[in-house]
Amino acid sequence: MSGKNAMIGDYLGTIEEFLPGRGTYAQDGKIYAACMGEIVLDSAKHLAEVKGKSLPKLREGQVVFGEVSSIKKSQVIVIVSRILGIDTPIDERSFIYVSNISDKFVDKPEDMFAVGDIVKAEVFKIKDDLIDLSTKGDLGVVKAFCRKCRRPLVKSDKREGKMECLNCGHLELRKTAKDYGNVCEI
Ligand SMILES: [Zn+2]
Repeated sequence: MSGKNAMIGDYLGTIEEFLPGRGTYAQDGKIYAACMGEIVLDSAKHLAEVKGKSLPKLREGQVVFGEVSSIKKSQVIVIVSRILGIDTPIDERSFIYVSNISDKFVDKPEDMFAVGDIVKAEVFKIKDDLIDLSTKGDLGVVKAFCRKCRRPLVKSDKREGKMECLNCGHLELRKTAKDYGNVCEI
């Protein structure tokens, strides 16, 4: 059985054969898998374990990428899918509070972001599983889409600080990252 993949609740052995190790639980003298992952039965140590497929955990100070999923009155909700420098994708709901958007005063988050934008941000604070991001400084939107026709926006060379749709000519505002447009598909 060792080396096979376990589903939660799979029977692994008895407590006479093994000690219930990490990723397992014992009930009525039998050991079961407590998580999904690879079964490791060590007969020398008499230990049964399930090595769970652990996702990378977010830490404060990391730079992350994610997509804006909704915009509320005082915060932007971003689904983080990547950590800079780590290949394994993640899926973490996080927030950018209006005061963490820019070094300048921002009144409404919807002036600086739109749903579907790809954002580069720093993990500012993690408390009680709530993940706060910041886009101050050089961080912000790395890919934005026209609110009218959904085509990608470019930085306007005609209007300083504005984003322009080359398809329909619509001008929009964003809190862009310094490297806007240089990020390939995430
Ligand atoms: Zn457009």
